[in-house]
Amino acid sequence: MKKPVQVLSPEFKKKVLNYFEKGHTAKEISLELNSEYRKETGKDLTRNACIGIKFRSGKCQAMSRLDKSAHDEPPEGFKRKVCLKCLHEKWIEDYNRICFECKQTVDWKAGATVEHGVTSLGRNTSRYV
Ligand SMILES: [Zn+2]
Repeated sequence: MKKPVQVLSPEFKKKVLNYFEKGHTAKEISLELNSEYRKETGKDLTRNACIGIKFRSGKCQAMSRLDKSAHDEPPEGFKRKVCLKCLHEKWIEDYNRICFECKQTVDWKAGATVEHGVTSLGRNTSRYV
């Protein structure tokens, strides 16, 4: 079985950015590209995902400027929060507790998987019997 692709292709990101450039809203883009996104990731393309792609494409300069100043206008759908992994204050999507950089790292994904495995094993071995 083929696993769903976790990282979006540059082509797809480019497509999202093109829509933004044409003046479409994140909501419109998410509806337009949802079926394609599902094929790539197995998940639904949310409005916030579109905003995230746009925001991250703002290049590192814009990013570091935002990170330094908490008074800048927040990107739509993002809030100023302390990331639970790297403990830096960053712009993080409303529903997330972890910054995008941390979410993208392989370490984080591996860690989450291992943690889950340990939990299930712990239950199965029933140490308390
Ligand atoms: Zn982080």
